[in-house]
Amino acid sequence: MKAIFLDRDGILNIEIGNYICSKEDLTMNKGSLEFLKMAISKGYKLIVITNQGGISKGLYSKEILKTIHEKMTTLYKEEGVFFEEIFYCPHHSNIEKCLCRKPHGLMIEKALQKYKLNKNDCFMIGDTERDKQAAESAGIKGYLVASNSSLSPLLHLLA
Ligand SMILES: [Mg+2]
Ligand SMILES: [Zn+2]
Repeated sequence: MKAIFLDRDGILNIEIGNYICSKEDLTMNKGSLEFLKMAISKGYKLIVITNQGGISKGLYSKEILKTIHEKMTTLYKEEGVFFEEIFYCPHHSNIEKCLCRKPHGLMIEKALQKYKLNKNDCFMIGDTERDKQAAESAGIKGYLVASNSSLSPLLHLLA
């Protein structure tokens, strides 16, 4: 089974330079659509791997995050794009230590196991160095694009 791991902010939704604290803050990065539709047509599972340290900081609750993710998944579903699961780390390194927050690879490792994925058939897309580090720490390749940009330059990665 093959999968693509996707960072959220700056890849799936517009990075606003601050925490997304409510669903009103979330707008889709439409530059992702061509790539994600093609990935689905080629049989990739799409799995979201996101740091949400705003929870640890008390900026929004897990319940609010759920409504943010419901909005995101609804917007993408309307475009025919389905996410297998959204893994998030609710911790922030200023407040508590954990092994899931990127650049750690634990969220990716959990997903690899849960979905019985073959590392060689998986990769991660993000917009910050820590996304790439998390991928490498889990033993998969990581690719970076600029925040809020198109993923179409990565179409050649789809096997
Ligand atoms: Mg990001
Ligand atoms: Zn964590």
